[in-house]
Amino acid sequence: MASDPTTAMVLAYEEGRAASPGERGLILLAVAAPELTVPARAALPVGRRDALLLDLHERLFGGRAEALADCPRCSEKLETDVLLAAIRAPTPVDAPARFTLTIGAREIGYRLPNAGDLAALGANSELSDGTAATRALARRCLLALEDSESLSDEAEAALTEAIANAVTAADPQAEVMLELECPGCGFHWTAPFDIVEFLWRRLESTVSTLLREVHIIASHYGWSERDILTLSPFRRRRYLELVGI
Ligand SMILES: [Zn+2]
Repeated sequence: MASDPTTAMVLAYEEGRAASPGERGLILLAVAAPELTVPARAALPVGRRDALLLDLHERLFGGRAEALADCPRCSEKLETDVLLAAIRAPTPVDAPARFTLTIGAREIGYRLPNAGDLAALGANSELSDGTAATRALARRCLLALEDSESLSDEAEAALTEAIANAVTAADPQAEVMLELECPGCGFHWTAPFDIVEFLWRRLESTVSTLLREVHIIASHYGWSERDILTLSPFRRRRYLELVGI
């Protein structure tokens, strides 16, 4: 990963252009926590991933994210600022690495969903529908069940519910909900907040602007892309002014 944050953003965007949301989560995590190894990043519970991505958003783009939504009742377009500090969930200490669920005489071990699970799910286009993705995620979170193929529908449903409860208790940052209110009709609703989606949207517009700036400065001065990207934003802005942009 590039050492300067501007180049890291361009590389991350290029790498994730055609990626699934889960894969983008891992790509962004590499920018947020380059000190962690690839397996360590993949093993982070989703809420820990999201806490690091909130840090990254604050570092690169500030502490507010702009949420866009359509009112489910009157279809009015809603724009609202989300204060990232307000959606921080406390990090539970001593969250167990292994949870257990007892069904009849059987004990099933499972763990929290992690960043690698979401990336693996997203890579599989057959999992585009929500139910299949939930089931596949539950299967990935199963630990050491020798006859996992024989898990009944009932057991699988119980496991899915148990995983959801474990996330609520031990990884609450993974399930942030936004309270929204329509300015047109007053309708109230909640929607999940997805930091990956927010970061990616900002990254997309930032990288598009950066590459346009590189093009203009390179055309005038003949400097390399690498040199232009490592200029401070202030100096890039000044050179653009000097060439009359
Ligand atoms: Zn409305």
